[in-house]
Amino acid sequence: MNAPAVFESGVLTEERPGAVKPPIDLWKGKKGGLVIVECPQRIPCNPCNTSCPAGAIVEFKDINDVPAIDYPKCTGCAMCVARCPGLACFVADLTFGDGVALMKLPYEMLPAPAKGDRVKCLGRTGETVCDGTVENVTEPLKDRTKVVHVSIAADKVNDVRAIRVV
Ligand code: SF4
Ligand code: SF4
Repeated sequence: MNAPAVFESGVLTEERPGAVKPPIDLWKGKKGGLVIVECPQRIPCNPCNTSCPAGAIVEFKDINDVPAIDYPKCTGCAMCVARCPGLACFVADLTFGDGVALMKLPYEMLPAPAKGDRVKCLGRTGETVCDGTVENVTEPLKDRTKVVHVSIAADKVNDVRAIRVV
């Protein structure tokens, strides 16, 4: 059987098969947000699981397992965002404001953005989706991987996966 096209390019298709998205009833009221994981291919990798302080990423039975989330446990802390070597974890907080969501996105480039900056918000193929405002920049693991908190239009949370500093 042919592999699905999604794995041939390394970029998830619009349907995002295998991506893990929060249940909307829990997500819409969850202050701090919930994790989105877009890691649908079996690979020998598990730092998302081992770094989660809440036990929200279900223990892997096999190092090649794809992540599964126990959503009621997720606090939106974004530790997995900072730790995932594949930049495949994101947090989205739908409670940030009226029609405005807060995304917590991994960022490993220089220069790092600063609070208050306007940035370009990018989709999975690097295309510009919208503009955003940097609300905070953290470095949870003190390893130079930043987690950038960006406010965006709430209807873009399923599309924005990176930023470009302008
Ligand atoms: S955001 Fe925090 S609590 Fe949620 S899965 Fe990631 S590390 Fe765990
Ligand atoms: S750490 Fe990232 S790349 Fe590794 S299994 Fe977890 S989500 Fe996938």
